Amino acid sequence: MSVEMLSPAGEPGRQAARKHDRALRTVLGVLHDGTAFYAPIGEVITDGTRVICHLCGRSLRSVTAHLRAHGWTKVAYCEAFGLERGESLEGPETRKRRSAAFSARLIFDPAVRDGSAAGRELARTGALTRAAVAAATGRPFPEQRRRKAAQALAAIPPEVIARTNSDGAACRRGQVAEAIARQAGYPDLGSLVLARIADGASLTVISREAGLHKDWLSRHLADVDPAAADAARQLRADRMDARWVPVLSGLGFADVASYLRERHLMRHWSVNAIATEIGFSNHTVNAAFRRHGLAQVSHASKRHAARQRAEQVAARLGYRVLRTTSAGEERMAGPGRQSPLSPGSRSPGCAGMRRNLEGR
Ligand SMILES: [Zn+2]
Repeated sequence: MSVEMLSPAGEPGRQAARKHDRALRTVLGVLHDGTAFYAPIGEVITDGTRVICHLCGRSLRSVTAHLRAHGWTKVAYCEAFGLERGESLEGPETRKRRSAAFSARLIFDPAVRDGSAAGRELARTGALTRAAVAAATGRPFPEQRRRKAAQALAAIPPEVIARTNSDGAACRRGQVAEAIARQAGYPDLGSLVLARIADGASLTVISREAGLHKDWLSRHLADVDPAAADAARQLRADRMDARWVPVLSGLGFADVASYLRERHLMRHWSVNAIATEIGFSNHTVNAAFRRHGLAQVSHASKRHAARQRAEQVAARLGYRVLRTTSAGEERMAGPGRQSPLSPGSRSPGCAGMRRNLEGR
């Protein structure tokens, strides 16, 4: 569709004036089909009285009425230039005049009166909205609406958007929780989870049974029902500890936590040594540490042995503490600060470490 081809026929003088007029206007771009346009996509440029035609760039009282001259319909025009279908392509004065003329027809013209009544009835019952939704399905979003939405969004502070989103997500999680509990015949999600865990199911299994993502309960149970999440954690911990009980009772311990505390924190056994004693994997032992909130000391036995050797050496030399310093510190101290052990020498019990002694 080209502007030149579809220009209206008129008197030679007016046509020449129009052509001249158009030549002065700037082409803003070209549509996919090659149609040049003179007003920005997704915008209606108006000075209050007149509106600029995208197709020829002329300023007109009513582009709607003028479109016939180009051989275009309003729907095609709005679609091509990214405008809402309901967008007015007329200046306010023209709109007022048209409205006044129509008001009279609404009273005196039975066809208009009936049509208007039918339209109002469709709107009242919601049929109009439904029909509009059905008609709009699959239709691309007009650029004008995209801009309006972006503008509206930009006016809202980001923290308000974030809060609204997270409130919405929490609300949806609550609804999901309620639905799956009801479906399984429980009053709430907490009761469902605790009952299933008591039966031996994991959170993954319960999530899958409910038709949710396998990690749903692991991620959201604490938000939806914190008390149930704590109880579930305790139940799972008890179940994990159950296999330790027979082994530990043979060693004279009542529970996992006191065993780990005694072996690791008091006797400085490594995870490896503990795993060997009870016949479980290192992974199982590590998991037990995490489950009971116990901090692990890495290389516990080696570090403890090194500390003991250092104390022995200090005692043999008649000092209370054997302190490790960096080589840099010793260099900084210079020859004025004499240490009983020269930096180069190595004590027999502390191989690989450079030390000096302090205090007596
Ligand atoms: Zn035009």
